Amino acid sequence: MSKTFNIAVFSGDGIGPEIMAPTLDLLRGLEHDFAFHDCPAGAASYRECGSDLPERSLATARAADAILLSALGDPAVRKPDGTELTPQIDLRIALDLYAGVRPVRIVPGMRTPLALPEGKTVDFVLIRESTEGLFHTRNRGRVEPDLAEETLRLTRKSTARVCDFAFRMARERLAEGHPGRVTSVDKANVFRAFAFWRGIFDEVAGGYPDLTADHAYVDAMALWMVIRPWDWDVMVTENMFGDILSDLGAGLMGGLGMAPSADIGEDHAVFQPCHGSAPDIAGRGVANPFAMILSAGMMLDWLGRRYDVPDLLRDAARVRAAVDGCIVAGETTGDLGGMLDTRGAAAAVMARL
Ligand code: ATP
Ligand code: MG
Repeated sequence: MSKTFNIAVFSGDGIGPEIMAPTLDLLRGLEHDFAFHDCPAGAASYRECGSDLPERSLATARAADAILLSALGDPAVRKPDGTELTPQIDLRIALDLYAGVRPVRIVPGMRTPLALPEGKTVDFVLIRESTEGLFHTRNRGRVEPDLAEETLRLTRKSTARVCDFAFRMARERLAEGHPGRVTSVDKANVFRAFAFWRGIFDEVAGGYPDLTADHAYVDAMALWMVIRPWDWDVMVTENMFGDILSDLGAGLMGGLGMAPSADIGEDHAVFQPCHGSAPDIAGRGVANPFAMILSAGMMLDWLGRRYDVPDLLRDAARVRAAVDGCIVAGETTGDLGGMLDTRGAAAAVMARL
């Protein structure tokens, strides 16, 4: 008997349900036993029941083997204190999802603002620490009439575990032909907290003598990601730096519509596109489903490694290849220059599968 994988599904707001529905269809078409469990959350849920992350949905997510999430929230719906709803960050904290995984891949034929030299491909992964750093005081920073202050917090435990995660990932990638290199992205020249980070990174690196470890300052990395993006393998960085660099990475891939992500902890993982609920295009059926589909592909990969199911790993690679094929053939939505709507683009991926 093959295992039934219980998947908590957060279809969310705006374009969320539009990109989630065809993604679930695609997963149903694969030869695995998935049970999908609907989890209301986000702005619509907040309007209906006063909670943007209801207990029941959180409990379903906790009990699931993996969590698929499209986009939660709507800038027009705010809490009484005027702040935006951030249920996906609350979920990250509740499930202790400490490693934000943001792959940046540019295959030949893909639309990118870069001029890639002949024969160069871009394929690196940015790992963002997701529980502390400059987000430590989020929503409770000190603001007075003439002063505002937030705190950067780095703990040994969280820094060590995210660095270790990055080295483990580089080792897996080494087996697939990548260079086996991890770069710490920090600002150790100016902030003592980042010298602390770097020291811990170096200690963790000592446990991986088969891999290369090096360092870069975050400002320099912003430059290098643009002028030689093919140079990198795995990067690991603090929460806020990761937030910014992952949008830069999405930009290199031709926009948010292409950028998948995973937020991974010891026992749980959430897979979601990097983009938000895009209220400006919601309801028109034109949203690009590729970031959502690629996120589902990352879920297949993660489940395959976790439960040692080679067929899941194979299907993860097939999903990636099918999306790549669509991009090269121009079978895309308008944001990537194509003529298809959401359903059409998803159907093109399924046809290639
Ligand atoms: P959040 O705060 O939730 O991250 P955001 O303010 O970054 O949201 P998005 O919702 O990601 O904003 O949208 C940014 C822009 O990208 C919008 O113009 C939106 O229409 C566009 N966009 C986002 N996702 C997609 C998609 N899947 N397909 C096409 N366009 C998209
Ligand atoms: Mg955003």
